[in-house]
Amino acid sequence: MHELSIAEAMLEQALAALRAAGGGRVVRLRVRVGELSGVDPDALAFAVPVAARGTEAEGAQLEVVRCPARVECEVCGATTAVEWPDVRCGHCGADRVRIVDGRQLRLESLDVETPAAALDGG
Ligand SMILES: [Zn+2]
Repeated sequence: MHELSIAEAMLEQALAALRAAGGGRVVRLRVRVGELSGVDPDALAFAVPVAARGTEAEGAQLEVVRCPARVECEVCGATTAVEWPDVRCGHCGADRVRIVDGRQLRLESLDVETPAAALDGG
């Protein structure tokens, strides 16, 4: 499954950031998935917890931010959202457009819990 390897790569990135921050665990992940990225957000939402099993991100909440496809028109210059796969300018209807948004696939942010509480001896 394509989404599982993407989930693994994102987790690797998240865990590296966690270690750089001093350790602890990941409690929440926010990822941005463009409509044109070729990734199914639902499949990704399923794959992340699977890939997180046994890591410091196990049980982390996942928030998937879906980004619609947007194009810039070469005729009138407007930037509009499109109903993929009907790629046309939403303003003048021209099909001479350039894709400017919707291809992204990235880990946007993560919330971590530091191990400070565990040091409290009490
Ligand atoms: Zn146009």
